Amino acid sequence: MRKKVIAGNWKMNNNLSGAVELISGIKNGLADFEPQADMIICPPYISLETAAALIKDTPIKLGAQNMYFEDSGAYTGEVSAEMLKSVGCEYVILGHSERRTIFNESDETINKKVKKALAGGLKPIFCIGETLEERESGVTNKVVEKQVRDGLQDISESDLANVIVAYEPVWAIGTGKTATPEQAQEVHEFIRNLIKELYSENAAQNLVIQYGGSVKPANAKELLSQNDIDGALVGGACLQPDSFLDIVKSS
Ligand code: PEP
Repeated sequence: MRKKVIAGNWKMNNNLSGAVELISGIKNGLADFEPQADMIICPPYISLETAAALIKDTPIKLGAQNMYFEDSGAYTGEVSAEMLKSVGCEYVILGHSERRTIFNESDETINKKVKKALAGGLKPIFCIGETLEERESGVTNKVVEKQVRDGLQDISESDLANVIVAYEPVWAIGTGKTATPEQAQEVHEFIRNLIKELYSENAAQNLVIQYGGSVKPANAKELLSQNDIDGALVGGACLQPDSFLDIVKSS
């Protein structure tokens, strides 16, 4: 049985003191229960080092929200996998739909980032998902298949073991609209079958596939009880300790 993984994508929210406050709130909440799921927090870059110190000796793990695929050099504003490792990151979100749409990241760029993250010892949370227009025109599986094939191109089966896939329908991110558990399950099952075809039954069975898109305490339990939904990538609801922990408790 795959262990559930709940990750909080803080996006561009919280300055350093806000980050300290949110992490303290999560730590205080953890005094009351034993989490059954793995927990990852992904604050903005500026708070990563402080976050790493605050979560030391807790079950909370640390991730970044992006990185660049080069090692170093004249890439103003970017950070490398090695830099993220050096401040204590274990995970990195790659290919989030906001990166794809606002910052024009292509499947090819994302693939380079996934490879570089893995080579640098980081575990990518690799995001994929269709737009509303794509869903309404019936091409969801086709879109997701291309994102998986291109984004994971030349990734070996042993490296895939360190990848989490996050299925996030774009129309459900930050909109308050959630995919129904059945809609999400259907795509998750499709992704797992695709991984079986591209790798093996074993790789498919071990792959953690998170759902993301307006996950909140009120809908988490039903989503997380689906066969192929192994966790959640949470945006808005991870910014309050109680709602983040309520989602963890739903696992
Ligand atoms: C996300 O940022 O990955 C996300 C799913 O956001 P929200 O939960 O706010 O929809």
